Amino acid sequence: MIKYPKKINKADYSENIKNPKTFYGLNPKIEFCSKCTYSNQKPTTEKEYNHKINTKKSTLTIENNVCRACKVLKEKKNTDWSKRKKLLKKICNKYRNKDGTYDCIVPGSGGKDSFYASYILKYEFGMNPLTVTWAPHIYTSWGWKNFNSWIHSGFDNYLFTPNGRTHRLLSRLSLENLFHPFQPFIMGQYYFPARIAAKFKIPLVFYGDTNAEFGHKEDFSNPQRNLHFFTTNNTSNIHIGGTSLKDLKKNFKLNQKDLDPYLPLKPKELKNINLNIQYLGFYIPWHPQECYYFASENGNFSAAPERNAGTHQKYTGIDDKLDDFHYYTTFIKFGIGRSTYDTSVEIRNGEIDRNEGISLIKKYEGEFPNRFSQEVFDYFSINKKEFPQAYKQFEKAEMDIDYFNLLTDKFRSPHIWKYTKNSWKLRRKVWDK
Ligand SMILES: [Zn+2]
Repeated sequence: MIKYPKKINKADYSENIKNPKTFYGLNPKIEFCSKCTYSNQKPTTEKEYNHKINTKKSTLTIENNVCRACKVLKEKKNTDWSKRKKLLKKICNKYRNKDGTYDCIVPGSGGKDSFYASYILKYEFGMNPLTVTWAPHIYTSWGWKNFNSWIHSGFDNYLFTPNGRTHRLLSRLSLENLFHPFQPFIMGQYYFPARIAAKFKIPLVFYGDTNAEFGHKEDFSNPQRNLHFFTTNNTSNIHIGGTSLKDLKKNFKLNQKDLDPYLPLKPKELKNINLNIQYLGFYIPWHPQECYYFASENGNFSAAPERNAGTHQKYTGIDDKLDDFHYYTTFIKFGIGRSTYDTSVEIRNGEIDRNEGISLIKKYEGEFPNRFSQEVFDYFSINKKEFPQAYKQFEKAEMDIDYFNLLTDKFRSPHIWKYTKNSWKLRRKVWDK
């Protein structure tokens, strides 16, 4: 039974407490990069399917006041890009199908980056990409329009929309147990391209910008993604929404077929196609804002009519109404909201300087995502009619703002947050000396 969230003990969050508790195995000493706005609390890639509430998070490293993402930027600037482009041509020549049948997969939502990737592969490198999309939870109208513009600029697409009830239930569990409502989406989206590659025997997949550029542990000098991220032989340790597969079946009445789209592949499923998963950002210097201009000019891509909640920016991550909530939860758990994510990327790419980034953070960071909140709470509400069994597992199956606020406080790590003068404040901020 999932209990109604209890009020937290405010004493843990008092201003002067020595050695406040630390959640998620985060580094108790909060540090910021001196070049961008990232902190060492930022999580880096891990196998999402192993993620439980007690899993120790691996996080961004900061050495000599500079984060790994900024170090990668230096490598990026020193790269011989004409040499890299030649390498890309070589790969394309090796894999290209002369009869026009699909020779590579480009995963994406139809946002600026996937548009750019598929477009240049097709029109500059003569490839025959199949684009594949795992649908957002709830499309924004502008996200849906951009998705269609993508297809209409000359691409075939497989759109997979997971069972709405399963996806809602898993998202609610992820919110409830991990404060990570995006987890089922991330898992589904992650494995879907490899699954389609195996099904249609298309041996090459191209992602856009490299994970290394965001400070993840992968090596910027390696264009290939390791297949072990996509596969496992051991399903016994897999959890979705902090719940084991066994419990999802027994208590929440989901069956294997419901769960399959969210699970990593078995290594043997990929054995026959010798799958090669590549980062296009290794071969072409990736610049998100340039991708946006490119997609607008060549494919009718439009920015959202309004800025995203918690940031100034309106051209990245604009297709899912749950996106605002995703970044709100990262702000609560790690003290890193959407403005930090966006400004750090824009600083590294030379759009703004660090002081401008900090001003934007002061203005927008941590803003409550009001605009779609009612629709999102309805989405998370597990009603009796649609979920006759799963419904019984919740003390209160409907989600509303009071419930959400109690849940929010439960996931605040005391080393990040203090409660003072009747309000929540970050203990350490990017502009602190
Ligand atoms: Zn940095």
